[in-house]
Order: sequence, then C-alpha cells, then structure tokens
Amino acid sequence: MDYMDSNKIGQRIENKLIHALGRTISEATNDEIYKAAAECIRDDIMISWADSRKRIQEQGVKKLYYMSAEFLMGRAFSNNLINQGLYEAYREAFWEMGLDFDKITDEENDAGLGNGGLGRLAACFLDSLSTMELPVLGCGIRYEYGMFRQKIVDGTQIEMEDDWLRDGNIWEIERPELSVEVHFNGTIQENWTENGLKIEHKDYNTVIAVPYDVPIIGYKTKTPATLRLWSARSKRRFDFHSFNEGIYDKAMADQTFAEAISKVLYPSDDHMQGKMLRLKQFYFLASATMQSMIKRHKVVFDNLNSLPEHVVIQINETHPALAMPELMRILMDEEDFGWDEAYGMVKKIFHYTNHTIMTEAMECWDENMFRLLLPRIYQIICAINEKYCQKLSVYYSKEEEKIAQMAVIGNNEIRMANLCVAICHRINGVSNLHADILKTRIFKGSYQIFPQKYLAITNGITHRRWLALANQGLYHLIREYVKGDILKDYRLFEQILPYKDDKEFCKKYEKVKRNNKIRFAKYIKEKQGIEVNPESIFDVHCKRLHEYKRQLLKCLHIIYIYQKIKKDPACITTPITFIFAAKAAPGYARAKEIIRLIHSIQEMVNKDPDMDGKIQVVFVENYCVSVAEMLIPAADISEQISTAGMEASGTGNMKFMMNGALTIGTMDGANIEIAERVGQENIFIFGDSAEGNYNKKMYHTYNPGIIFENHPGIRDVCNCLIEGNLLRYGNRKYSEIYQNLLFGEYGEADPYYILADFPSYIETYEKVYRLYVDHKDEWIKKAIVNTAKSGYFSSDRTIEQYNEKIWNLKPVK
Ligand SMILES: *Cc1c(COP(=O)(O)O)cnc(C)c1O
Repeated sequence: MDYMDSNKIGQRIENKLIHALGRTISEATNDEIYKAAAECIRDDIMISWADSRKRIQEQGVKKLYYMSAEFLMGRAFSNNLINQGLYEAYREAFWEMGLDFDKITDEENDAGLGNGGLGRLAACFLDSLSTMELPVLGCGIRYEYGMFRQKIVDGTQIEMEDDWLRDGNIWEIERPELSVEVHFNGTIQENWTENGLKIEHKDYNTVIAVPYDVPIIGYKTKTPATLRLWSARSKRRFDFHSFNEGIYDKAMADQTFAEAISKVLYPSDDHMQGKMLRLKQFYFLASATMQSMIKRHKVVFDNLNSLPEHVVIQINETHPALAMPELMRILMDEEDFGWDEAYGMVKKIFHYTNHTIMTEAMECWDENMFRLLLPRIYQIICAINEKYCQKLSVYYSKEEEKIAQMAVIGNNEIRMANLCVAICHRINGVSNLHADILKTRIFKGSYQIFPQKYLAITNGITHRRWLALANQGLYHLIREYVKGDILKDYRLFEQILPYKDDKEFCKKYEKVKRNNKIRFAKYIKEKQGIEVNPESIFDVHCKRLHEYKRQLLKCLHIIYIYQKIKKDPACITTPITFIFAAKAAPGYARAKEIIRLIHSIQEMVNKDPDMDGKIQVVFVENYCVSVAEMLIPAADISEQISTAGMEASGTGNMKFMMNGALTIGTMDGANIEIAERVGQENIFIFGDSAEGNYNKKMYHTYNPGIIFENHPGIRDVCNCLIEGNLLRYGNRKYSEIYQNLLFGEYGEADPYYILADFPSYIETYEKVYRLYVDHKDEWIKKAIVNTAKSGYFSSDRTIEQYNEKIWNLKPVK
C-alpha cells in the first residue's frame, strides 16, 4: 500500500459514509463509521486480491488447500491495518475527525468459528502463508453461529448464541456462481456397461454449498490469500407445491435439513460426539472443497493426471478427513479413474496434523449411521480398510489383535485417525514431545512400518497479531531498538537480547507492562465492574476449561495461599491478582463445576477483609481472541500447568512468552521447547514428566491418599472443598471434586495427577513470588529473555517447516 495521509483517509471514510450509507460523519453511529472505514480498507485490496488469484493461475504454481473445520479468526479490522502498514495513519485520521478509534473498532464482532487452539492455529497459519506469499486456499465452514458467548450468573456458565453475522460481514464476498451440490443418504446402484462398472447414487438429498470468500491480507504484500467458508442452502428454498397442497411442514423440511448443516459450531473442545449433524458438517466441507478443487483444476490445467503436482492438502485434525474418500469418489465415479490410479493420487496429495492423543477426542462414527448418511463413501472406506488390513498382515502376520486395532473399521465404528494414518503421506505432531508420543504410543504400529511418514512440527503464533496488534507498546519499543522489520523476519527478535542489561531499555520494558495492566484494569472495570490493582502481580490462567489443563490445581493453590495468609498475614507483601478466563463445553459437567468453584473462591477471597491488599481472584467472562489480545499482554505470570503428556503443544504459552510473562509450567507440549530456548533459569518448571505420568498410569503406582496424609497444608485445602468457609452457590459443596481427587469414580483417583504435582507447584510458586518481590530487576531481565527468544515460536517458522518438509510451495511472483 502506498503512503496515505490521514486527511485522505478521513475524506475517503466520509465519502464512503455518504455514498454507501447516506450518512454524514456527524450523524453516523459508531457501527456505521466502522462499516464505512472497513469498506475503505477492503476496497484497497480488491484489485490485488483478484490479481493474486490470476497470477497463481497463470504461473501454474502448486497450491495448498488448508482444510479445517475451525478458523478462530477474531477481528479483522485492526489486523488488516497492521498488515497494510496503515494502522497509525487510520488511528490518526480517526483522532483528527474526533472519533474514538478503540470504540469504533469494538463494533466488529469476533469471527469465533473455532473452539480454541486448533482453530486459532489455522488462523495464524493463514496470516503467515499470506505474508510469505505462498499460494493457499483456507477451507472451512461458515457457521451462522460461532462459539457461544459466555455469561456467568451466580457462578454458573450460561451459553448465549453468537449471532456474529447479524449486522453483516464486510470481509466476506458471496460467490454463488461457484456453488456445488452435496448429496446425502440414498442408495448406490452398480451398473455394468460397455465401459465396465458404473456407480450410480440415487434418491439422495441435495444440499447446495455456497462459498463465501474472505481475503487474508498478509504483511506488506500484494497477494492476499483466501479463506473460503462454505454455507449450506436448500436446493428449493421453499417447496411451493407442498405448500399449496397444505403440507406446510413438508414445505419447510427440505430447507431445514439443508440449512441446519452450517447453522452452528459444536462447542466441545477435545471431546468427540458422534452426532449425525456433526458428520453432515464434515462431509459437507469435504465434498464442497474437493468438488471445487477438481472444477478449478479442470479449468486451469487440461488434465486431472497432473493433480498431485499442482495441489497439496493439509487436514487440520481428522475433521476434514472425509475429503480423502470423497476425492476417490469423484475421480472414480465421475472422472473414470481406476481404483489404483485414484488411490495413488490421494496418497500423494493428503497430509494430516494430529492435535490430541486423548482417546475421548478421537473421532469415531457409528458404522450404521455412517452407511445411511454416506452410502458411497462408506463403500470406499470399506475397500480402503480391506486393502490396508491386507498390507498390515504382511508385516504383522500373526498379530490379528494388532491389525484389528489399527483397522479403519472396528467395533462397528469408523475410526478417522486410523483412516488418516492409512492414507496420508505425512503425519505430524505439533511439538517434539507430542510427535514422540504419536510414534511410540498412539500410532506405534504404523510408525514401525512407515517411520518416514512421521514428523514433528512445533506450532506457532503470528507475531503480527499477538505482538504488533495486541501489544503496541512492546512492538514500538522493539522497533526502536531493532534494525530491520521484525514483522517480516521473526529472527530479528534476538536482537533485543543484549538490551536485558541496558537500564533504560529495562525501564521502558517495565513501563510497557504496567500500561498493559492498566489497560486491562480499565477493561475489567468497564465490563464486569471489578476493581483490580495494576500494582499487583497478574497471574493468568486462560484457555479452554478442561480437566487436563488443571484449572483445579490453580484453584487449590489459591485456597492454599488464602489459608496461609489467614495464619501469617505477612507472607504476602506484594499483592497478587489471580485471573482466570475459560469457556467450558456446555455438556461437560465437571468443567462447569470447576467454573463454579472458581467463583466460590472469588467470593471467599474478595469479600474477606483479611485478603484486602493481598490477593484477589478475577474470572474474565467470555474468553475469546479479542479478550486474549487484551489479557495476555497484561500478564506477569503465565500458567501452563497441564498434566505432562496431555497438552499436545499449546499456543497460549507462546503468546505469553512473546509478551514478556514468565511461565510456571510442566514439561509438556511446547513448554519443553520454550524451556530449551530461554534456559532453565528463565522459566519455572514443576511436576512430574510425561513419562513419569505414563508410568503412574500403566503400573498403578499412584495413590493421592498418601499426599493427603503427609501434607497437612494440602489436606486442609482439600477439606476446604467440603467444609470450611468456602462460599457456595445454591448451597453446594464441592464433594464431587473432592471425592474424585481422593477416591476417583472408576477406581482411578485423581486421574490428572493434581495432588501428585501439588507440592512441587507450591514450592515452585514460592520461588516465582520471591523473585518478583525481592528481585524485580532480575524478573524484568528474564521477561526480556523470553521475548527475545520467542521469535522461534512465530507461525512464520512453523510454515517454513511445513513448506520445507511437506508442501514444497513456491511464493507467488
Ligand atoms: C491461543 C488461544 C487458545 C489456545 O490456548 P492454549 O493455552 O494453548 O490452550 C484458546 N483460545 C483462544 C481465544 C486463544 O487465543
């Protein structure tokens, strides 16, 4: 983008307001100004967007289809300005017009089309791909309702619908001419013709898939990428014939069947539900994407044989995996390829990223439901399974049980992870530890035969959004001291390392953190009416609520400190604010109970005058990308305390590190790699290792009762859950949580090893606290080291590795 002065921007916004909305600047609402300004930004990239598409076609370069059921994009307005280098100019233009930039950008709804880390990763990847000018189409679902909005009433999470499209969406362009039909149900007829066997799918239900394209503006490039989100529509929006016959419900049935598909995002993270509608969503995404890919290929290149040279597909988790049998179907049934040719192509094109090893998250579909909904895809998967099992029996000839475990179909279920392992060319874990666990445990049988398929590529975050946008103070400070453009080159982060010994730099760095804390304090006062002390230590635990992420460990620790203050008020000299933010899946009762517990602790602590000026607890409602952008730059302490072996990577940990919070964490996921980079002296590691936890589980050596008996402090904390002065909503006791910690439900007590790691956590936290209180200058130095070493965790590095090891894309010229 060329240089643009603020006068010119102001003028353009005023013109847009009057021409598009019929409003003058003085009568326009914030929403109207937001829309006008957003349209100005959009206008600027339309030409380069179309041009980018054309150049990709002309150059005949290989293109990536990044398929994901979730894209947790957040807001686009300010991010697009940062990436076009126009952020300052727009801020100034708004200021000159007497407009409040922050209030106006607040008008934009988050695009919350994802649950958490997995969806946010997809969003960060698109930003990096676009910035690196690699040809990509992101492919997802245009959920009409994204992740629910969370409200807390009497300590209980209430889910409210996220009607994010209500006021329109400036950033999307509907492309009805690129619509395709997706077929469900029906029967399969096999007809022998002169040309051999012909498959005919009959009596199916049709759903129209309409694409909405969103431009993804990279940093200072002229080749925006595209995110294509599919929306479901009925073929006949209204069956007038049935209506005239008086069969009103039938007149609507078609539409209801179709349009339910892209209605709502399933709000469960790391948990699989075998719901029919969910399967429909995934096939809808798979089929629409594969059809449009084939159509385009036939237009741009004359012949489908060259498909593997021109496309590569990465599937984010197993959700889009049906694209593999769907591509087989199209190639065989519609394009007359033989099985071997089609299978050969699919095996070259697809690659799979695994995100979790937890068995409850592994995607499995009821075989009968699957056969009824997707009869042809079912046949193809059966054939894939048969051939795969034959191949396995060559290697594991006498191990029928092993083959049955690795099979795609078993126990009347279709196992999507096994399907991916059977077909995909490359299979990657999202951190080194996670990939090792895949190789040695989850996919061991496959790894031993095909070790070359497996690799580790550690996740990353885009530092454009998570530093330059979320933490402008720190970004400007870094820019002042670094030669070169850090937003183009993540390696430049290291240049600030020597300044950890520069007094002036340290002072400025500390001041940035202080300002971010003040900004958060203002936010939480406005939103939830809570006063927090920006002079206190901000200790932040924000991520999805899940037992393995151990918000409960943090709860127990706060109770521990509370009881300690009761006995020795002098033990806390610098106050601490414990901040939580987390959504629980609506059907996850234990997670919702933990949210209630957090609020009970909040009540107990915040209303107790003995805690005044010592500790405070804050639960931030509705954790989402915009809240994360506000909260993470304000954190002093980053809580990354998952049960080791269970967090595949984590990306929240990287955001905190980049923004200068010190991590207290387990040796899990990417925490291990953060520790490797900053050094043991700049991170606080506690608790048992992944291997230690695995052994506890395998050899049943763990008994939380022993810890309870041997640590009076811990015993008192546990007892507080069922007695004592913990205020309870609706007179509840937390006896279920207590029981589960000490005795377990199915014979397995404390399955996330909370009490096992509790003593170590208490001890390590004491060191964290003492460092902050007694050696603040040392603390700042360590924080600077964290920022300086965080470049490695830019998603630019992650994408470089994917490209080098898997995709082999060339930048668009
Ligand atoms: C980064 C991010 C996550 C992932 O956080 P983890 O700590 O890695 O689980 C989840 N939700 C939002 C809104 C995020 O920005």
